[in-house]
Amino acid sequence: MDRLADGGAEVDFAVPLAELHGVAAGVAGRVAGRARFARIQGLPVAELTVRGAATLECQRCLQPMSVPIERLVKVALVASEADAARVPPELEPMLAPGGRISIGELLTEELLLTLPIVALHAEGEPCTASSAQTPAGEQAQDTHKPFARLADLLRR
Ligand SMILES: [Zn+2]
Repeated sequence: MDRLADGGAEVDFAVPLAELHGVAAGVAGRVAGRARFARIQGLPVAELTVRGAATLECQRCLQPMSVPIERLVKVALVASEADAARVPPELEPMLAPGGRISIGELLTEELLLTLPIVALHAEGEPCTASSAQTPAGEQAQDTHKPFARLADLLRR
């Protein structure tokens, strides 16, 4: 992985998310893409194309949910926080002492930015907490008193 930026290297990758250290435990799925290394305004830059899907656990119904990932970013590899200030706005600064970073580290950083901190099924997606696993009566009550549960939580 050393000095890829100088060589104009291109690296194709396909990585199961479970193999990325630093991505939250329990995240499944797979991403694939290409990293292209270049120099822009003297800075080592990694142009990263990532496609795939992450499978996370919905924090409401605890069922798996899929989060599509499609990113194209240009990351400037900077040696220090001070250098980050010199990075042009179209580039995303990332700390990489010596301009060196592994594909895994790049992906981990990107995914931390991309994946939701609290995963929840989107509106309109089947979220079993509000349908199959909830008794009909309770569900109707929820609809009319959306804050009832919040009040319960506050009382604790
Ligand atoms: Zn859900």
